[in-house]
Amino acid sequence: MLTSLRAWKETLDELGVMGIVPEPPTKISPTAPTSLNVPFPIPQTANAPDSRTRLMPRTKETHVWEAPSDPVKNPPLQAVENCDTLDALHSCICQCEACPLGADRIKFVFGEGSPTARMMFVGEGPGRDEDIQGRPFVGRAGALLDKMIASIEMRRDEVYIANVVKCRPPDNRTPTPVESQTCLRYLKRQIELIQPTVLVGLGATPLRELIGIAAGITKIRGSWHIVSVAGREIPFMPTLHPAYVLRQYTKEVRKAVWEDLLAAKKKIESE
Ligand code: SF4
Repeated sequence: MLTSLRAWKETLDELGVMGIVPEPPTKISPTAPTSLNVPFPIPQTANAPDSRTRLMPRTKETHVWEAPSDPVKNPPLQAVENCDTLDALHSCICQCEACPLGADRIKFVFGEGSPTARMMFVGEGPGRDEDIQGRPFVGRAGALLDKMIASIEMRRDEVYIANVVKCRPPDNRTPTPVESQTCLRYLKRQIELIQPTVLVGLGATPLRELIGIAAGITKIRGSWHIVSVAGREIPFMPTLHPAYVLRQYTKEVRKAVWEDLLAAKKKIESE
């Protein structure tokens, strides 16, 4: 009897099924983090199998993400602030993995445009095309952004285009507040170096991260706000993201965006 029980357990183990004999519980450290105080999942090995799960197939363990201590993968704020050109900033941060988005990117998307642009656009984060090419706004939304810029008689190479996060969020989801805030120090240094006269926020994420407003972009768009970067106050115009305009391609939506961009252009002309 004992022999057949042992053989059955060995067979279940080979198939990756937890045995009927309960495994000894893994000790949980009294200082172990809980789901309430860490932003990322805790590995399942921290918990002993219970009677409901012991016959379930083993699943792949989820790893706790930790910010790297390597200064190349997680550049210290002082190193970022010491960068006195966009090229120096790019070199300093292009291997960043300071938030979970870094590990899965294809290409780092720094931003591009005139280093002395008076109008700077800030989007949410790279999408699939941007991740492949390493450039911001190059897909369908990018083509529409180019048209939006042309509609106010400006050129793409006259403005600067960047995003709140420089690596693509999986499945194009919204970056989490932790990811956005980790990357924001780079965007702020970029703004500091470019010194634009106006910032145009594309969509809800730059509005949330730069202004701290979580209200719907459709309600807030078209109204001036102020972003304070390194002691300098910069007018900020929130407008709709080109991807939203593509989904809601109505005359009213396009007119609303055009009016927002026109207001931004008037602002730089009046300064
Ligand atoms: S999104 Fe920003 S903070 Fe996160 S890994 Fe990429 S560059 Fe670093």
